[in-house]
Amino acid sequence: MFKIYYNICLCLSAMACVAIASLALLQGGEASAQSRVPRVLILYPYDERVPATSVAGQSVRTHLMDATDGKLDLFSEFLDLGRFPQSAHLDRMSRYLTEKYVDHQPDVVITLGEAATQFMNTHGRRIAPDARIVYGGFDKETAVELKLPTSAVGAVSDFEVEKTVSLAMRLQPKAKRLVIMAGSSDFDQRWLRSAKMGLVNIEKAIETTYVTGLSIEEFAEQASRLPDDTILVVLTIMQDRNGRNFAPRTALDQIAAVASVPVYGPYSTYIGSGAVGANSVTFESVGVAIAKLSLDIIAHRPVSNVEVQPRYLVDARQMQRWGLSESDLPPDTIVSFSEPSLFDQFFPQVMGGLAFILAQSVVIIALVFERRRRGRAERESRSRLHELIHLNQSATAGALAASMAHELNQPLGAILINAETAEQLLRSDAPDVSLIRQILVDIQDDDRRAGDMIARMKGLLKKRSEIEWQEFDLNNVVNSAAQILQADIARKRVHLEIAQDGRKLLVRADQVHLQQVVLNLATNAIDAMQEFPVADKKLKFETRLDLPSGKVECAISDSGGGIAAEKLSSIFEAFYTTKAKGTGLGLSIARAIVEIYGGRIWADNLPEGGAVFRFALPHAQGPLP
Ligand code: ADP
Repeated sequence: MFKIYYNICLCLSAMACVAIASLALLQGGEASAQSRVPRVLILYPYDERVPATSVAGQSVRTHLMDATDGKLDLFSEFLDLGRFPQSAHLDRMSRYLTEKYVDHQPDVVITLGEAATQFMNTHGRRIAPDARIVYGGFDKETAVELKLPTSAVGAVSDFEVEKTVSLAMRLQPKAKRLVIMAGSSDFDQRWLRSAKMGLVNIEKAIETTYVTGLSIEEFAEQASRLPDDTILVVLTIMQDRNGRNFAPRTALDQIAAVASVPVYGPYSTYIGSGAVGANSVTFESVGVAIAKLSLDIIAHRPVSNVEVQPRYLVDARQMQRWGLSESDLPPDTIVSFSEPSLFDQFFPQVMGGLAFILAQSVVIIALVFERRRRGRAERESRSRLHELIHLNQSATAGALAASMAHELNQPLGAILINAETAEQLLRSDAPDVSLIRQILVDIQDDDRRAGDMIARMKGLLKKRSEIEWQEFDLNNVVNSAAQILQADIARKRVHLEIAQDGRKLLVRADQVHLQQVVLNLATNAIDAMQEFPVADKKLKFETRLDLPSGKVECAISDSGGGIAAEKLSSIFEAFYTTKAKGTGLGLSIARAIVEIYGGRIWADNLPEGGAVFRFALPHAQGPLP
């Protein structure tokens, strides 16, 4: 009894252990399924050369990876059914995939195109019994015919060849014939059958010929001899009469290269391979729709079939080649390979050029403004300078006025005495006519002298706002200044020496301005000798042509106290003065004037005492030898 009881206990504990272990295993298995990333297998029906499935597959891959941040195990298998359609190959592939994925069961199997979907429908239960099938790349009717499990969902699309033909008829309104070409493979023949059904009505409107069972060369040869008024549609040629396999796009390419008329086809992948146009879904959009369905399944969201809408597609280069007009295209047609306009083509260069021109314009405008501003500023400063020079002239004239008035008394007094003398002579009985004539000449001379003096004074007081350019002998300026200063010099008992070598020293300037310079320098020189004994007051005007430089030079020297060595360079700065009533402007104005005429002014101390101020101006007749 105990033994039985013991055995039952043993048995129960063993069962409990097994149950616990199984539960643990089950839980562990679920945990690992939950923790691992989702697995998706993409089944390609043919090899990688077939653009339709390659494009759709790539679109699926990109979309899935982007949406999951790469947290997805993605597998791809190429069934190669175009080249190996035999059932033995299908079985072999089925076994191979079953074994391969036994430990890596996919959650979703994506089948691109009808053939891959059919394969999965037949062998899927072995390969991935729990996976959901997501299919795409064919129409609703085919999906129904395939009798897929209810769990399968797809992105279906209509491939209506009649729409491609209607596009061709819009572009070639004068066409009288329609030629449809299809290859020899099962797939090609299925396409042909479907096209024949779809074109029943169109056949009534246009003479229609179906061309099949030819080699690729024969297809090309026929295409090259078609009359102009023919519409040529190539469905698919996956295999020709000789059993040669092609990616449909490659076959179309060969035919379009020699065709005598425009070629159309029902696939978007034909655009860019010689076809003018198609009515088709783009395989990118099919891929996106399939990827979205797969993501919904992975996230356990409810899913149902979606329809991907076909579009009219054309190749702009082919349109141009055949002289077809874009205005004949249905609205919303996608036009690919549009030749970029010259502007588009050279956009970066054009933009670069524009930016450069813009920058240059900005710089030019800024420079023009700057130039104007500078011009205004220069004009303003020149007018200020003129005003300053005039003020300085007036001041000089004012300072000299007293001594000049005094000096004027001399000719006027002489005129009076001479006139009185002449009158007395005339009153005599026998007037001395020759003496009276001499007296009259003296009167005229004195009057002229007084007139000259007044004229010089007027010159000094005349206001000018612009430079009066003249070519003149600098000696005249010096002599004229000496005349003006004469009274002052006499009053202050200064000895004046004028040294000139008799040559004309022509300069181009405003004569009154240079006279002002000489007067400024001379009055300063006279001032500098004010405290010196009469015998030592020596003022010297010297003019000469400086041969090495070819410049006209004027030096005004005195025998005063000279200039402190450290002031020699700064003496021309404005407002420097050592005089109680000085303005400190005389020398700075002199420098400004000399520089206006391209000259230079400087000061030195003389070894024998006193200072010398020199200025040099360009010779009016250019550089001299
Ligand atoms: P201002 O005569 O009103 O002082 P200037 O600019 O003509 O203004 O002269 C500036 C200063 O330069 C004078 O005050 C004087 O000190 C000095 N100076 C000018 N000429 C001489 C000269 N020939 N000898 C010595 N000092 C001079």
